[in-house]
Amino acid sequence: MTLPDGSKHEHASGVRPIDIAKGISPRLADAAIVARVNGELYDLTRPLEGDASLEILTAKNPETLEVYRHSTAHLLAAAVLELFPETKLGIGPPTETGFYYDFQRETAFTPEDLEKIEARMWEIQKRDLPYERKLMAKSEGLEKYRAMGEPMKCELIEEKADAIFSEYTLGPRFIDFCRGPHVPSTSKL
Ligand SMILES: [Zn+2]
Repeated sequence: MTLPDGSKHEHASGVRPIDIAKGISPRLADAAIVARVNGELYDLTRPLEGDASLEILTAKNPETLEVYRHSTAHLLAAAVLELFPETKLGIGPPTETGFYYDFQRETAFTPEDLEKIEARMWEIQKRDLPYERKLMAKSEGLEKYRAMGEPMKCELIEEKADAIFSEYTLGPRFIDFCRGPHVPSTSKL
């Protein structure tokens, strides 16, 4: 691994950026949000293979703001699914000023619902749930999201997914067809 100061370090294949950050300093590991590997943003917990240039990014790097916001959108969706399991999922991107998640359900959310959702988001934040990345074949994925009753996700997968796509889980219920990357766990938010 070549670090931004030009120093080179040897690690076993499969080492994760968070492990390397811990080796540099516990404070850096604590502040880390995401890694940049050969110019591409990577989860801190994604195993690395082969030679790479590696940079550990913290909130000081402006490009981590999108990751932070998109991870908060996942937290929002996980909270909504815990409280209102019948909700169907659209998309949940970061925006210029924050983030949103697009939901579909029979009745609109009330202002009281929004308060409950925010309280549940804080609860999940404290559980320190990991953002887990998995790889899925497109045909298998379509079957899975169809069985979960997520027609909008199936449409997105049909339009946008590669033959193998990544998905992220947060807690027992929420899975998203998603390119990532994300913060390692909800306590970062
Ligand atoms: Zn996502």
